[in-house]
Amino acid sequence: MKELKFQTKSGWLKLNADEVDKFAKGYIKFINSCKTERQTVKFAEEVLKREGFVDISEYDGSTSAKVYMKFREKALVAMKINSKLTDGTNLVVSHIDSPRIDLKPHPIIEDEGIALAKTHYYGGIKKYHWFNIPLSIVGVVVKEDGTTIDVNIGENEDDPVFVISDLLPHLDRKDEKVSEKFQAEKMNLILGSVPLNDEEEEAVKLNILKILNEKYGIKEEDLISADLYLVPAFKAKEIGLDRSFVGAYGHDDRICAYTSLIALIEANSDKNMGIILFDKEEIGSDGNTGAKSRFYMMFFRKVLKKQGFDDVEFYLDETLEKTNVISADVNAAINPSFKDVHDPANAARAGHGIVLTKYTGARGKAGASEARAELVAKVRAVLNKNGVLWQVGNLGKVDVGGGGTVAKFLAEKGAEVIDMGPGLIGMHSPYELVSKIDLYESYRAYKALLENL
Ligand code: MN
Ligand code: MN
Repeated sequence: MKELKFQTKSGWLKLNADEVDKFAKGYIKFINSCKTERQTVKFAEEVLKREGFVDISEYDGSTSAKVYMKFREKALVAMKINSKLTDGTNLVVSHIDSPRIDLKPHPIIEDEGIALAKTHYYGGIKKYHWFNIPLSIVGVVVKEDGTTIDVNIGENEDDPVFVISDLLPHLDRKDEKVSEKFQAEKMNLILGSVPLNDEEEEAVKLNILKILNEKYGIKEEDLISADLYLVPAFKAKEIGLDRSFVGAYGHDDRICAYTSLIALIEANSDKNMGIILFDKEEIGSDGNTGAKSRFYMMFFRKVLKKQGFDDVEFYLDETLEKTNVISADVNAAINPSFKDVHDPANAARAGHGIVLTKYTGARGKAGASEARAELVAKVRAVLNKNGVLWQVGNLGKVDVGGGGTVAKFLAEKGAEVIDMGPGLIGMHSPYELVSKIDLYESYRAYKALLENL
């Protein structure tokens, strides 16, 4: 009678550990080099081009093509077209932005002989996580003449790194609420302390500007037209004596970007299939590169037009109606030290496979995207048939947790949508953990679903 129960167990007892390890090695290389959405788009474009994908402008309308479209350097959609688009398509969509600290538009100040950069955090963070850790500055500065300068200080072995420094415990004995103790306006980055000379005002700041000018040919005003982020400078590593986890900054959600990209490259069937890499999920999917924007619809319209459909708007609706979307995003795996926030029967366990999340939302499913039972059944069938390890997981107890993904923005267009991804321990911290099993099973799940849904 045991088979009547739904039970999961550790994938280490079921999978080939060498295969799991090999996949994790490739991922570690990726996650070390892609800490921003721009770097991830660049990486994905290189991989896609190498695999024979062409820009949408070169697509000839055939029903055997590999096509992609980059959008404003921060988002991307790629498809293997194997039939008319109106037959629908299987999509795995993820986001490539992560919580981080941004520089303010006019960042550099000097106070007490120290030059500092003012910051504004991006996404849901616990502010105290970001104090006293080594940080890199990455991003771009665009000059008035349109020249884009890539900035990357802290990621190379010989680079200096940066720190947002906290108050020493001796002078911080007041028992305040964390929201009072850690304030955004105190999250100032230390840039330096050497004065340019003895005469000038703000001589330390001036010296920093001189260094930036020598290195990048920029002046202070150029920093206003910049996307500059602070990201953890440390490297991804295997974690634990048994090396069963990977620790890294930005698993959420570049782990799904990577696994879906590799899945698309390797997937092979007669169905249309694709991936979308969105920006801005961590701040609500707003803006022209987020999931609320129109760029991927624009891509579909272009494909439809090239395939010879005249009434593009009508056929776009038909396409979306027949489209299945895996909203590929991370979930919370149980951290045994904080397990009281979960309902154990409906929470993800590290190493038990990809997490299937029927609905998101919070407190009475508000703001949820919920997969229909019919879709869940289909997904379950594909995963079981392909021997993919999976489990169910909701983000915390009903009155405690909840959260959103990009799922609802694709659902409102008419597609069938379900949330699926690996469970993380310490999500949204500068060093998130994922089980290598869940990493590998996410890739295997996305591949099976692209091919078979
Ligand atoms: Mn996410
Ligand atoms: Mn997130």
